[in-house]
Amino acid sequence: MTARVLVVDDIPVNVRLLEAKLSAEYFHVQTASGGQEALTKVHDDPPDIVLLDVMMPGMDGFEVCRRMKQDPACAHVPVVMVTALDQPSDRVKGLDAGADDFLTKPVDDLSMFARVRSLVRMKSMFEELRMREETRQTLGLSDANALAKGRDPTGAILFIDDRLDLPLWLDTLSCLGNDVTGTSDFDAALTHTREHSYDAIIVSVSSPLFDGLRLLSEIRANPSLRNTPVIALVAAGDHRKLAQALDLGANDYLHLPLDRSEFVVRVKTQLRKKMYTDLLRQNVQRGMEMALRDHLTGLFNRRYLSQHLETVLKCASPAKPVSLLIMDIDYFSRVNNTYGHLAGDEVLRQFAGRLVENIRGIDLACRYGGEEFVVVLSDTDPNVACVVGERLRRAVEKAAFQVEQPSAQIPVTVSIGVASSTGGESSAALLRRADQALYRAKGEGRNRVIAEIAEAA
Ligand SMILES: [Mg+2]
Repeated sequence: MTARVLVVDDIPVNVRLLEAKLSAEYFHVQTASGGQEALTKVHDDPPDIVLLDVMMPGMDGFEVCRRMKQDPACAHVPVVMVTALDQPSDRVKGLDAGADDFLTKPVDDLSMFARVRSLVRMKSMFEELRMREETRQTLGLSDANALAKGRDPTGAILFIDDRLDLPLWLDTLSCLGNDVTGTSDFDAALTHTREHSYDAIIVSVSSPLFDGLRLLSEIRANPSLRNTPVIALVAAGDHRKLAQALDLGANDYLHLPLDRSEFVVRVKTQLRKKMYTDLLRQNVQRGMEMALRDHLTGLFNRRYLSQHLETVLKCASPAKPVSLLIMDIDYFSRVNNTYGHLAGDEVLRQFAGRLVENIRGIDLACRYGGEEFVVVLSDTDPNVACVVGERLRRAVEKAAFQVEQPSAQIPVTVSIGVASSTGGESSAALLRRADQALYRAKGEGRNRVIAEIAEAA
């Protein structure tokens, strides 16, 4: 993994030492010797991660971190505080400032590389989602940011540990509004992870009673928990286990014995990230759904139809024919010209409604163009397709369309072309045949259903 790392430290020898270590692992390293320089650099050209010295003259690391996190240009860049102080109170101060992690001087290589890689991995996932989210925001479709900021993060948490005071820690989490489950048993933990979904999992990898690393890898192998953050609890000083835990996919870690304030802050951070990514994912999904729908009628659009028709035709056979209805509202331009476009849109919406009411749930209705619609009837022979077409034609003709702006009763009729395929044909060819039938229906006086009979094979 190549990533761009900004190293910030007021002492040149510290900068050079970290630079040498990181470069040897193929990271691209930039440097800054003070807070102001660092802020300018992250703003102008945000790196993938910042290693930030805490003790610096002028502006200290906490302040630099706070300002970075307030700058929209670089608020998403993960920050690792590098400190000679190893007091939990400093860690909490750093986390409050928005830091994502800590390294204690002298910096241990193994935990530094593992930590940097894990944070960069998380950042690239966020970035991917953020780009899609930006598109949605540009289109005015998004509310993810507002939602994520407004709520205090809570969720379902699984806590796997053998500590005697586990109930106290579970209480701490419950009091914050979380739904908490605790266990010290390997098999029980696995069962929980298979039967429930969690917003965060906390697992000790330093317990003599169960193999926490194996649990961690089982959790990561479970697709339904792929987006669930895992916090590993590691005995202080056990760098080997810590590196293994991070490599296996732990999102964060805490040293044992636990410090209560740090514990609470870290769990909240992971829950917030989970909540944020969940929202982004939902929005991306809705966005994809919307890209395949026609905005006016809510029917599928032409792009989706082509894809769907190809798939359906692949499964078609003489025993399982596919039929297609293509329909065009008669003299639709007169509706627009007489009543205006608002009324025209309303007619299209109501037409789509009548269409959907008169086909089966498995049939696919789509808006093909302005006033053109297509229905795909899978596993349907041409005779049945004509019956469906006739039913649709009557459903449109039988009652005028009631619009409000301007208030009017608009009589509407539709011409329908039908074609069927038993496979071995492209979607374009089938659409062309249906279109020819529609053309004949128009030519023969409109308001009728005409089937295109395929030449005998
Ligand atoms: Mg310093």
